Amino acid sequence: MILFKTTATLQHYLNKLRNKSLTIGFVPTMGALHEGHLSLIKESRKTCNITVCSIFVNPTQFNDKKDFEKYPVTIENDIFLLETNNTNILFLPSVNEIYPGGINKLQHFDIGYLENIQEGKYRPGHFQGVCNVVFRLLEIVNPNTLFLGRKDYQQYLILKKMMQQFYSTVNVQAVDIARESNGLAMSSRNMRLSNSAREKAAILNKALHFIQQNLSVRSVDELVQKAKDSILENGFDEINYIEVCDAETLLPVTNETKHKQLIALAAAFIEEVRLIDNIML
Ligand code: AMP
Repeated sequence: MILFKTTATLQHYLNKLRNKSLTIGFVPTMGALHEGHLSLIKESRKTCNITVCSIFVNPTQFNDKKDFEKYPVTIENDIFLLETNNTNILFLPSVNEIYPGGINKLQHFDIGYLENIQEGKYRPGHFQGVCNVVFRLLEIVNPNTLFLGRKDYQQYLILKKMMQQFYSTVNVQAVDIARESNGLAMSSRNMRLSNSAREKAAILNKALHFIQQNLSVRSVDELVQKAKDSILENGFDEINYIEVCDAETLLPVTNETKHKQLIALAAAFIEEVRLIDNIML
């Protein structure tokens, strides 16, 4: 694996590979890597000649300063995991490389209503930060395919929309959620949980499963209420949202959309750590 810290050196190297007609797969991350990230790397290895991973804890997507400061950094282990999973290139840029004009001069992306619902409602400005960093990373890496996890489903929909407008030739490939054996969705933030909270946190996924299994026999409102109750009774301190939505639009399910592909999404706090999860219904 080759590690690049500057845009110029990375681009120079990637241009040489492109001239040899090699295809480039790109996996952007914020580090503290786990099996979820590695499943994206593996997918890229399967379909592209060269796999580029970036690690950049993007300051502009954190609406909560404390969350940014506490975000886990495990770079030595990340390099080991990438190396042992045959990643070709690691891009480790500084804030200046990504935001040459400074982090206060963000581009505005037209994300529409998706910016203000679910994650957007509870994390104002988050998706503008996400769009800015991915827009810039795509400009630098110029990959054939971008790999994104379904764990951040709303982010995936928003980035697909942004890319239709600005990077329509780049393919977007979504990868399924990697989970712990108890069902907990893998997340860098899980590192901040005690062992007992990691066990308890599995209730988030179990509650979404409960909705999935009972959708044909009970009302959505009743199921969401029961899911909320069991999450709060089993170790979570606060719920931001649990919603059943049209998976294409993320709008609440209605009589007209109940036969479409639906998704249940949740965000909740345990030990002051905010976890998200979703499940197709
Ligand atoms: P992050 O480092 O959290 O910004 O995530 C980088 C990429 O990995 C995003 O596309 C995430 O959706 C994806 N990802 C994170 N956790 C998982 C997981 N448990 N399963 C699949 N993809 C994931």
